[in-house]
Amino acid sequence: MKNNILFKKWLLDLQLTHPLVIAGPCSAETEAQVLSTAHLIKDTDTTFFRAGIWKPRTRPGQFEGVGSIGLKWLQRVKEETGLKTATEIANASHVEQALKHHIDLLWIGARSTVSPFIVQEIAEALRGTDKIVLVKNPVNPDLPLWLGAVERLQSVGIEKLGVIHRGFSSYHEKVYRNKPKWPLAIELRKQFPDLPLLLDPSHICGNRELIFEVCQTGLDLNYDGFMIETHIDPNGAWSDAAQQITPHRLNEITQQLKVKKPLLEETDYINRLTIYRKELDQLDQNLIELLSSRMDIAEQIGKLKHEKNVTILQSSRWDELMQKMIEIGSKRGLSQEFIEKLFKAIHLESIQHQQDINK
Ligand code: PEP
Ligand code: MN
Repeated sequence: MKNNILFKKWLLDLQLTHPLVIAGPCSAETEAQVLSTAHLIKDTDTTFFRAGIWKPRTRPGQFEGVGSIGLKWLQRVKEETGLKTATEIANASHVEQALKHHIDLLWIGARSTVSPFIVQEIAEALRGTDKIVLVKNPVNPDLPLWLGAVERLQSVGIEKLGVIHRGFSSYHEKVYRNKPKWPLAIELRKQFPDLPLLLDPSHICGNRELIFEVCQTGLDLNYDGFMIETHIDPNGAWSDAAQQITPHRLNEITQQLKVKKPLLEETDYINRLTIYRKELDQLDQNLIELLSSRMDIAEQIGKLKHEKNVTILQSSRWDELMQKMIEIGSKRGLSQEFIEKLFKAIHLESIQHQQDINK
């Protein structure tokens, strides 16, 4: 897939003066719940009203969605509020029914993105339509798999594409329901700056308390908008109750978020930034030189060990060094995680140099 300026066209055509908002309940439950939520959402920055009709649930026996009757409720939402509509599709039959009910935006959920067979089936069913199709990240942190799903849609002629970052499941994670792993989305953004990138803070957080700050992080990273689960009575929701917010709270959040400019042409800003960047460039160059000197010494050690027939890997020495660096780093405001990653990389490179010298 090549970066394509046309990716963004559907978003630009909406002519929004704020980030895109897709909001609505996790699940359509009853006609009254859908319509009352939509009537309140209509007075927020929301463009698309979302509701899950078919719900992929981790364990059977939970509420699995109302099925296609809910599509009629979404049609009523559009007629009564003017909001465009959005739902998740997970197979060819869902696509067919959603198209029949004129749903404006379809998204592929995290559990479907993992399966190339399912994505291909959905893509075939969508062939020839001009709907907006968004792809949520797969549950596992696999960027090529995520991009592969976008490519399958692109190859059947879908042009109005975008992706939704909803976080990645992780067994040990405590803070988030799905770990954001921001660097992965940043990498996607770097490779495809024109592919609309939305954030789903609801499924990342799993609770309502963290939603605002996760949204702000998204804006600081230049995301194009959000999908936020919003319910007339969050605590009474039939699915994902803990993470849903009221339309009133949705409005507060979107009003309080600070949209940052991706670029600023102001002279004072550019001059100051240029000075800082020059300093950084110099420091980065120093880092490379220091690392290179470090490798020279590692090579000398490698030679010495070779002469004296001693193994290259000396784990206890590295454990000691790592502890010392973590300690020094923490006094200098560098996290343990960062120091560990940095010195693991340095260690591996050192071993490589020591091995190469004796070849
Ligand atoms: C949803 O949006 O309700 C949903 C099921 O999300 P995900 O595919 O991200 O789990
Ligand atoms: Mn949900």
